[in-house]
Amino acid sequence: MSNTVVKVSPAKIKEMKQYYQDALLDKIPGGGIFIAKLPGCTITAYRSGKVLFQGAGCTSEAAKWEEALEKKPAKTKTSGNSLPANIGSLSVIGSDEVGTGDYFGPITVVSAYVKKEQIPLLKELGVKDSKGLKDDQIARIAKDLLTFIPYSLLKLPNEKYNRLQQSGMSQGKIKALLHNRALYNLSQKIAPEKPEAILIDQFAEAGTYYRYLQNEKIIMQDGVFFSTKGESVHLAVAAASILARYAFVRAFEKLSREAGMTLPKGAGTQVDVAAARLIKARGVDVLPHFTKLHFANTEKAKRIAGVK
Ligand code: MN
Repeated sequence: MSNTVVKVSPAKIKEMKQYYQDALLDKIPGGGIFIAKLPGCTITAYRSGKVLFQGAGCTSEAAKWEEALEKKPAKTKTSGNSLPANIGSLSVIGSDEVGTGDYFGPITVVSAYVKKEQIPLLKELGVKDSKGLKDDQIARIAKDLLTFIPYSLLKLPNEKYNRLQQSGMSQGKIKALLHNRALYNLSQKIAPEKPEAILIDQFAEAGTYYRYLQNEKIIMQDGVFFSTKGESVHLAVAAASILARYAFVRAFEKLSREAGMTLPKGAGTQVDVAAARLIKARGVDVLPHFTKLHFANTEKAKRIAGVK
């Protein structure tokens, strides 16, 4: 019997009770709010905010709510050099990546250089966190940015991603190598001009990042800063995220045309189903071209398609 405990807010418990309304039991546990019984998983919510998931089928059930927790807006966290107080008004190279959690499509990293005097213009163009923008807004802003922002764009084809991953390289290390390369390319592009700071949207602590890069030539370590929610620290990160998202969406559309079907983003159930359709139509051997093979989606899709 496997047990998982998830700690959530009172509002989330209400949401869970609603979500499980068809599976609620009449009895209420001591100190508790509700019990729900699903095939393979019993869920007990307590007033303390703890929710207990019991049973063999619980891992994915509990994960639904753990994910929801992670999506709660977090405070900005930095590591490594502490951010200069005025970083938001400096001339900065920002760096961000997309596609790391998507089964289909390439990891895409962009570094973008925004001079301090361009910051008002970027605001005017509507540059902000790409997660809050729809694809058509992203395309419109990206097309503007492309005309005047120096940037470096790296797309890692899935064949290559899979080779690196199968050779034992972690996704974190792959991302670090891509960021470092994009930063290098961009600093060459704008030379002899130098940014006043480089800001990487933090996907790993500074120490981990530099450990990943121990055999690489590293860009300007003193002036490199790491922050989560980097797009709220400097618009260069927001610009990088918009350019990365735009390139990713276009790569995704191209892949969809190659696949002959609309490929879904993310790594959820609809992705399993689409991958299964792709396997049935084109065979399992095409997966390395379209997908990040090590994701759990591969096995699920094979099961749906009925292949080994
Ligand atoms: Mn990011």
